[in-house]
Amino acid sequence: MGQCKYCGEDAGFFSHVHKECEEKHNQGLTTLEDGIRRYFRDAIKMDDLKKIVAQVKQEHYVEDPDIAVSSAKCIDEYTEKSRWPFHSHQLDLVKNYINNIGVPYHGQQLVSRKESYIASLSHLLSPAGHMCPRDHPQSR
Ligand SMILES: [Zn+2]
Repeated sequence: MGQCKYCGEDAGFFSHVHKECEEKHNQGLTTLEDGIRRYFRDAIKMDDLKKIVAQVKQEHYVEDPDIAVSSAKCIDEYTEKSRWPFHSHQLDLVKNYINNIGVPYHGQQLVSRKESYIASLSHLLSPAGHMCPRDHPQSR
């Protein structure tokens, strides 16, 4: 007898999820990532994003590790899409995101990402040198 990994109820023999729960979970991730992307597009504020996070946690079996994974994915997308050089506003968005959403999760991955992102973004922002984007992977 297997327990559903989302709701914890009996999921039947040889089964570890209810299809409905899995769908609900995936829907939550979509909602979450859509919210994160909108935040980075300045379409919504951090407060709105926090509401979305609270909502998917409450209603869609989305947990902190999921949020850490989605955050990393969306930050990657955002930083890869952003054209070099980064504007300070873009750096602020990432920092604000990490401070509001990332840090409470204590995910090792996200913590090390936080440091490397801030380091790399700060580095790109520093006025000295780096006027040539040739080495940047996005400059192809
Ligand atoms: Zn279930």
